[in-house]
Amino acid sequence: MLHEMSWTEAKEYFRENDIALLPVGANEQHGPQNPLGTDYLNAKALAEETAKRTGVLCLQVIPFGVSSHHKQFWGTIYISPETFKSYMEEVCLALNYYGVRKIVVVNGHGGNRCALMEMAREFREQGVFVSIFEWWSAASKLLPDLFKPEERRHAGAEETSVNLVLHPHIVDMENAVDEEPRRHSLQMEGITLPLDTLDYMSSGVFGKSSTASGEKGRAVFETVVDELVEHVNLLKKAKIKDLMQKPKV
Ligand SMILES: [Zn+2]
Repeated sequence: MLHEMSWTEAKEYFRENDIALLPVGANEQHGPQNPLGTDYLNAKALAEETAKRTGVLCLQVIPFGVSSHHKQFWGTIYISPETFKSYMEEVCLALNYYGVRKIVVVNGHGGNRCALMEMAREFREQGVFVSIFEWWSAASKLLPDLFKPEERRHAGAEETSVNLVLHPHIVDMENAVDEEPRRHSLQMEGITLPLDTLDYMSSGVFGKSSTASGEKGRAVFETVVDELVEHVNLLKKAKIKDLMQKPKV
């Protein structure tokens, strides 16, 4: 962990290595049973475990993200996409100052994705390679049968299960609810509406959360960490010049 090193230890790491892990999440409603910190706590745990297994430096988690669509639910802290993107950029540039050219962003919140993707594309043009890892997308591909689609959405059984493994003391399954999101009257195929969570539901749980279990959460955590470790190990070995854009031959 970068924040646990002295500057002399950091110097030693950066002299030898050009890669770092950067977890980022959100502080937003996750239904009545889960902590507001779900997204940043899970990103932090995944990144830290991966750092342990790969020897790659991990930064402190960035706790706030792009969450204004949840703001009517109390306690959600929301940052604009522009501010979020420049903050992330400046953190990456500080790493780059010490020679880091490869950054694995461990993203715990879907709402951050657009800003992170824009940043990653811009950085590639400037010689820095940023990859973005999202655990739920890995889990649905690697463990397709573990949860039904209605259990895999925001604050649903899958996410609640991961919380039950990583921080059970702040999950209250007695409050777990199942709620089918309402369909907006203007919703048609091919239409995207600028709606907030409250337009779809009152509990904040998209779908089913009562079927969460620590056992399933353990399977998700182990499987997605294995995948992330493999990616980080490959990226560690990769040469930065091979990761940059090349003209068509
Ligand atoms: Zn979440």
